[in-house]
Amino acid sequence: MAEAEETIFCKIIRREIFADILYQDDLVTAFRDIRPKAPIHILIVTNLLIPTVNDVTAASEAAVGRFFTVAAKIAKQEGIDENGYRLIINCNHHGGQEVYHLHMHLLGGRPLGPLVS
Ligand code: IMP
Repeated sequence: MAEAEETIFCKIIRREIFADILYQDDLVTAFRDIRPKAPIHILIVTNLLIPTVNDVTAASEAAVGRFFTVAAKIAKQEGIDENGYRLIINCNHHGGQEVYHLHMHLLGGRPLGPLVS
């Protein structure tokens, strides 16, 4: 993988720019999306800069696995675990990825309907 370009999420993780951070550990950081698409819209991002799912290797499995334990923990905290929620990872242009720093969207707080129309 070529040297990846610093992203806005790198600055959030280092707390150089503001975000509403809900959780941070050695592998991942979770914060509220600045343009929420649902009443609850949280991003869980890897602390190390991995641009896309295509760049995930065995070395990043722990961080990617942590996405799910943190998503479940936050969903419970936010009170959306019982009704349910959606987890999305976009990859590259056709996947609708805007920020090239691996992240999972946690969306909930209303019925989300079918995934694609
Ligand atoms: P993507 O389309 O999967 O790459 O999603 C990127 C997400 O990052 C979008 O939902 C944006 O609203 C969100 N986003 C971009 N910049 C910021 C920020 O500075 N703080 C919080 N969320 C951001």
